[in-house]
Amino acid sequence: MGVCLSKGKILEPKANGHHQKPREPVNHYPKSPAPSSPLPYKPAKSPRPFRSPNTILGKPYEDVKSHYSIGKVLGKGQFGVTYLCTELSTGHQYACKSIAKRKLATKSDKEDMRREIHIMQHLSGQPNIVEFKGAYEDRNSVHLVMELCEGGELFDRIIAKGHYSERAAASICRAIVNVVHICQFMGVMHRDLKPENFLLSDKSGNPMLKATDFGLSVFIEEGNVYRDVVGSAYYVAPEVLQRRYGKEIDIWSAGVILYILLSGVPPFWAETENGIFDAILKGDIDFASRPWPSISSSAKDLVRRMLTQDPQKRITPAQVLEHPWIREGGEASDKPIDSAVLSRMKQFRAMNKLKKLALKVIAENLSQEEIQGLKAMFTNMDTDNSGTITYEELKTGLARLGSKLTEAEVKQLMEAADVDGNGTIDYIEFITATMHRHKLEIEEHLYKAFQYFDKDNSGFITRDELETAMKDYGMGDAATIKEIISEVDSDNDGRINYEEFCTMMRSGTQQPGKLF
Ligand code: ADP
Repeated sequence: MGVCLSKGKILEPKANGHHQKPREPVNHYPKSPAPSSPLPYKPAKSPRPFRSPNTILGKPYEDVKSHYSIGKVLGKGQFGVTYLCTELSTGHQYACKSIAKRKLATKSDKEDMRREIHIMQHLSGQPNIVEFKGAYEDRNSVHLVMELCEGGELFDRIIAKGHYSERAAASICRAIVNVVHICQFMGVMHRDLKPENFLLSDKSGNPMLKATDFGLSVFIEEGNVYRDVVGSAYYVAPEVLQRRYGKEIDIWSAGVILYILLSGVPPFWAETENGIFDAILKGDIDFASRPWPSISSSAKDLVRRMLTQDPQKRITPAQVLEHPWIREGGEASDKPIDSAVLSRMKQFRAMNKLKKLALKVIAENLSQEEIQGLKAMFTNMDTDNSGTITYEELKTGLARLGSKLTEAEVKQLMEAADVDGNGTIDYIEFITATMHRHKLEIEEHLYKAFQYFDKDNSGFITRDELETAMKDYGMGDAATIKEIISEVDSDNDGRINYEEFCTMMRSGTQQPGKLF
C-alpha cells in the first residue's frame, strides 16, 4: 500500500502559444457624456459597436484596483495567479485570479477563457459552487474576482488525513455529486472533477466544499458526442479514453474521488500514465486490500455503481443523492438554500416594470451560446415538454435544486416571472427572470434595450415611448409610467436618457446570488 497520490495533470494541455504583445483595443466604448453636456447624447449606431476584437470580456477596460486592493498570493495555477483581495467599498475579502493575456495567445484560448467565465457566472449562486463576483480586464490581464475559500484544497486535506470515516466521506461525496447534479441540471459538463478543483470555504471543522475550476467545462449540447480527451489521468472515465462520451463522465470521476476518500489510494493506478489508462479501461476495482474488508457493503455498492464501465448503466447524480449510503445519517440540512435560480427570480420580482421589460428585450437578443445553460434548465423544469412552465413544474423544479419554499412564495415568483400575466412562464420569460445579471454589464445589451424603447432615436425615452412599449405588454397604466419616470429620471427633465437608463439597469446587481 501507500501509493502516493500526485496531482493529476491535464491530458491535453490547451495550446499555450508564445508570447504575443497584446495590442490596444481599437474602439473604446464612448463613456456617457458629462451631465452638463448640452446636446442629447446619441449612442453610436453600429450593430456590434462595443466588442473589440482584442478584448476578452467584450466590455471596456477597467482597472480592478479601482475596486479592490490586491493582497498576498494565495496560489498559482497553470494559467494564472490567485491573490487575496479586499473590496475598497466594503472591506470584504475575495480571491482574485489574474490571468496574463499573453498566455491566451490563440483565438481558441480566448474562447476557452470566455467560456470559463460564462460557465462560472451561470453556475454562481449554487451551493457548493464558488460564487463569482466580477470580471475585469486591463491591457495585460483578465481578473476574476470570486468568493474567498480560506480552507485550502480538498486535495491537501486528503493527503493530510489519509482517508476519511465513512460518514465524513459520505458528506464530501454528497457535496461533489451535488455539484454534478447542479451542473447537469444547468446544462454543464464539468469534465475535470478531482480533489484539486474543490476548495474548502473556511478553516472550521465543518467547511462547505466549493467547486472552483471550470476551465475544461462545456455547455452540454443535446445529441452531441464529445471526443476531446481532456481531464486528469486518475479521474478520467473509460469512454473519454475511447473518445466517445457525454455527461456521464462526471459521475465516474466523482466515483474515483469517493474511492480515494474511503481508502486513500486511487482505484486505477500504475507507474505510468498509459498503465493508468489500461487499468481504467480494464475496470477491475480492488475491494480486497485494506481497508476495504472493513468498509460497509453499502459504500462499496455505491462505488461500484459510480465506476460502472457502461455510461448508460452508470448511476445518475439524482440516484446517487438517493442512495442509502449517502443518505444514511447525513440527511441534508434543513437550512433552506437559495439556489441561483431562486435568488435571480427574487431579484427579478423586486424590479420595476421598465427594468423587467428591458431585461425581456435583452433576453430576446441573447445569442444561443449565452442562453444554452438556461435553456437546459428550462427543459429540465418543463417536465411535460409543453414549452411553458406551470406553477407545479416551478415548484418541483426549485425543490430539485434544493430550495424549500412555501406555496405562497412559489406563487409570488410565478407571478413575477410571468411578465405577460397568462398564468404560465414561457421560455423567454424564464430566461428573462433567471439570466445572470452580469449580462447587464455588457454595453451592447444595454444599448440594444435602450434602442428598443427609444423608437425615434432621439437619445431619450420619452413618456409616450415608454407608454407605447409598455402597452404592448399590457402594463402601461398611467400611474406606473409616472412612477417609473420619477424613479429613473434623476435630472428631472421628464424623460430618460441613456445614462439614467444604464444606472437603473445596473442598480442592485452588485452581488449576484446574494441580494436576498
Ligand atoms: P489551476 O490553474 O491549477 O486550476 P487556480 O489558478 O484555479 O489553479 O488556483 C490556484 C490556487 O489558488 C489554488 O490551488 C488555491 O490554492 C488558490 N485559489 C484559487 N481560487 C481560490 C479561492 N477562491 N479562494 C482561495 N484560494 C484560491
